[in-house]
Amino acid sequence: MIEVSIVASELNQLKQQLNQTRLSHRDTTLKSRREILLLKRIILRFCAACKHHDSELDKEIVDLATRIEQVENTSDLTIQIATFERLINRYKMNVQKEHSVMEDHISYCGETLQRVAGLPAGLKRDLRSLLQYPSHDGSKHIQRIVRLVELYERAIKFISVGKLSSEINSNEVIDSDTQEQLSNELQHLISELDFNNTSGTKLLEIRSKLLTGTDAVSLIDLALQTLQLVLEGTNNERKASQIFVGEMNTQVAQIIKTSEQNQSQGQSYLEQRSLLNEEYSLLIKQAENLLDKKASEQEHKAKMVMLLNEMNDLAERNSAMQEREAALLERHEYTTKKLNNLYEETLEYRRQLSDQQQRVFRDPLTKVYNRAAMHERLDLEYKRWVRHQHSLVLAMIDIDQFKRINERFGHLAGDKALTIIAKTIENQVTDTDFVARFSGEEFLILFTETNKEEREKKLKAIQLAISKLPFKFKNDHVQVTVSVCSSEFTNSDIPEKVIKRTIDALYKQKSKGKEQFIYL
Ligand code: GH3
Ligand code: MG
Ligand code: MG
Repeated sequence: MIEVSIVASELNQLKQQLNQTRLSHRDTTLKSRREILLLKRIILRFCAACKHHDSELDKEIVDLATRIEQVENTSDLTIQIATFERLINRYKMNVQKEHSVMEDHISYCGETLQRVAGLPAGLKRDLRSLLQYPSHDGSKHIQRIVRLVELYERAIKFISVGKLSSEINSNEVIDSDTQEQLSNELQHLISELDFNNTSGTKLLEIRSKLLTGTDAVSLIDLALQTLQLVLEGTNNERKASQIFVGEMNTQVAQIIKTSEQNQSQGQSYLEQRSLLNEEYSLLIKQAENLLDKKASEQEHKAKMVMLLNEMNDLAERNSAMQEREAALLERHEYTTKKLNNLYEETLEYRRQLSDQQQRVFRDPLTKVYNRAAMHERLDLEYKRWVRHQHSLVLAMIDIDQFKRINERFGHLAGDKALTIIAKTIENQVTDTDFVARFSGEEFLILFTETNKEEREKKLKAIQLAISKLPFKFKNDHVQVTVSVCSSEFTNSDIPEKVIKRTIDALYKQKSKGKEQFIYL
């Protein structure tokens, strides 16, 4: 009896366990069905999203969608999903190819627009920045195409307006970029020239006009005027040299003539003195003979008087001779003095020439080295670097938004700022570092044989010192900042390549804001 009840209770327990298992199985089945449904829905949505791009893929999508509805178990879809995945991969590769073709097309269209002459600088700048950063993942293609179309629209508007105005004035066809470049080059050329005469003053006036901005026609006119003034200045300097050499020549010829006269005079005085000496000796001999001779006192006296007279005459001639010799000496001293003056004058001229020679390598405004000196030094340091492979680093410093200083306070304020900034840069480097004005508001430093830490310290110190300069223009306190990029010579580098690399990187970085600091 007891056994039957035990078995009944165990059976009961088993029944309960079975019920629980059935319930949990039902839950799992329901959950799994829900998940399968969800998965099917996702696959169907994904299929829908991939439709209409590839006919084979479309066909596979339809098959997969139908099959999904039919099958209970997703494992029955394995083969079809694998085919679908292969087709999707192929589609992805095709899309990538299309993106690259599209990017090439954007570049091509952009470059075509870039070649159109006479477009405004702003438009060209926008176009450059659009073409500078091609999109590789295709996510920005649409944005880029829209931007390109906008630029084309602006260009067409500008060209159509330009056409109208060209009917009024057909001369104005200078590309504004070229115009800006020409103006900058002309300013640079003028600042490298150093005429102290009126040509110099006129050249500075032209530079002021260029700094305040000119139209194309005035620019050409100013370029011609510059050429004319350079020619005039050179001619004036040549004439001044010719006059100086001519004057020197005349004076030297005069001195030579006077010296020759003095010399022959001196020679004749020498001969006359020797004759006088002979006459003296003769008179002395006659006097001695007279003393030896036995003659009457009267005869002695008479002869003595005669001798004394002759001696007197000789003494007078001697003293006249002395006067003439003194005059000759004076003339000789005068000639020597003249010769000395001449020597001083040529020395002074030599000094001036050497100063001028020094100035040829200095930027007249900022007094740091100019571009000519920079090329010379860069060439030298590059050759040394090739030979010894020590570290050679080029740093470019660009003043941030410098144009604004000119625009707000005038170019004289700009000039002043440039001078002070150049001095500040020089104060932060050592004698072995070479500082030059690279262009309008850009300075270049060459560091040789320094380590990275040392250089960074100096460059950061320059940046900080400039940002702290207490500029005050028209009662406004203005903070000026600079951006810096430095680049080390490596492998097959040549100076031009390093300069370009540094400038390009600097400009790219500057688009992020002011006071940038990069080390390539
Ligand atoms: P960014 O921050 O992009 O460098 O702008 P920016 O204004 O500094 O540079 P941008 O190249 O646009 O303009 C440089 C200006 O520097 C234009 C030119 O008038 C001015 N400039 C060049 N040389 C001289 C000069 O000798 N004296 C003065 N006062 N200005 C100069
Ligand atoms: Mg610049
Ligand atoms: Mg600048």
